[in-house]
Amino acid sequence: MEYISTRGHGTQSGTSSRFTDILLGGLMPDGGLAMPVAYPRLAASDLAAMRRMNYRELALSLLSLFADDIALADLKSIIDRTYTADIYRNARAGENTHDITPVATLEPGLHLLALSNGPTLAFKDIAMQLLGNLFEYVLAREKRSLNILGATSGDTGSSAEYAMRGKRGIRVFMLSPLGKMSAFQTAQMFSLQDPNIHNLAVRGVFDDCQDIVKAVSNDHAFKARYRIGTVNSINWARVSAQIVYYFKAYFAVTRRDDEQVSFSVPSGNFGNICAGHIARMMGLPIRKLILATNENDVLDEFFRSGVYRPRATAETRQTSSPSMDISKASNFERFAFDLVGRDAARVRELWAAVDRGGAFDLSATPAFARLADFGFVSGRSTHADRLATIRQVFAQHGRMIDTHTADGIKVGLDHREPGIPLVCLETALPAKFAETIREALGREPQRPAGFENIEALPQRSQVIDADAQAVKDFIARHAPT
Ligand SMILES: *Cc1c(COP(=O)(O)O)cnc(C)c1O
Repeated sequence: MEYISTRGHGTQSGTSSRFTDILLGGLMPDGGLAMPVAYPRLAASDLAAMRRMNYRELALSLLSLFADDIALADLKSIIDRTYTADIYRNARAGENTHDITPVATLEPGLHLLALSNGPTLAFKDIAMQLLGNLFEYVLAREKRSLNILGATSGDTGSSAEYAMRGKRGIRVFMLSPLGKMSAFQTAQMFSLQDPNIHNLAVRGVFDDCQDIVKAVSNDHAFKARYRIGTVNSINWARVSAQIVYYFKAYFAVTRRDDEQVSFSVPSGNFGNICAGHIARMMGLPIRKLILATNENDVLDEFFRSGVYRPRATAETRQTSSPSMDISKASNFERFAFDLVGRDAARVRELWAAVDRGGAFDLSATPAFARLADFGFVSGRSTHADRLATIRQVFAQHGRMIDTHTADGIKVGLDHREPGIPLVCLETALPAKFAETIREALGREPQRPAGFENIEALPQRSQVIDADAQAVKDFIARHAPT
């Protein structure tokens, strides 16, 4: 598979990239995002064969289409190590850990796709665990090492650290705002004792952490000298790994390969639902992709009005589904590329406005009229909706859900159609968001085995000023050139 940029790089002959070329990179050289030059189209016979596969077999069938520059036997061994019942062991009673992403049926036609059984109890593990093994493989092959620098307000940082811990050739420097994460999230990250993991607790807020990452990444000499990389949500390998569970869930809730299924996806950076879009483009019979936002509704606004208006970071509201608190959706450019008929010049034009802090309006264009062809609908959920949905699902189905999943279920139910199975993606377990669970249900969330006393484990972190130079000095002391 050849990859091009949403802004056109790679479209001249001889300039496109392969999967391992874009694996370690962030943005493409022209500032766009990597996209496969065309989506593989699956035939009816492919779907029939996939229906009989387990998660690992399905992952190999799908990912080998995108990562065809990795020897098939090597990719198989990476996938077999990544998707084991041993790693996805936090399933609830009645769920089969061997399914990796088990589907729970709440009532006929309403299902929950459990994506949060990995080490950090959030769906990001599914892609990040693969990324850890892919990075280690490619770095060993190229006899290189990598220093990952990231900023987190919670979920991404722990998911990255659990994926990269103990990996040869990889060090992680993760910035988090001092004292701003929940006790559970802090314990998850800071209790890691692996020498290749460095938690830097920054005297500041999350935006300070992000600004530092940007400042360090913009120091090109430093970045090259210390081989700084990222694991952010625009990484193509992460998006592609997420395609697999849309197929897995589809087969779990249907019997024939021509039945239609709708998916509801709690969305922030548009990474998760982007994978659903790609699955649909590949020929999976997805009827609707239902995009759910919280009060930070920049994406819902676009799908309803055609106007994409990223907010200033200061406008971003802190909500009880914090992993969806975004001011702009970093993967959205991928979908926009398809929506405008893969016209890279048009994407360049649209994002010239976005990158200047502006907005664009597609409402009067043929692209907006085509939105329905792509199956997208959207909605927004508020704190009150989350509380009501958590209560309702617990009362009616006896299942405790987290706040992000609640946003997805709320908006999913608003768009539910008779006769069409609805699959809501469960993106985290309630144990991570105890405060809101207490508010909704008046009791503590259930914790999977092994997490009972996580806050009591010894913690390791380094407090540091909100200063890019201090972070650079720390990296220089801990990362040999
Ligand atoms: C990251 C995250 C999301 C948002 O996913 P995107 O791919 O950014 O749209 C939703 N829920 C949880 C729990 C998350 O951690």
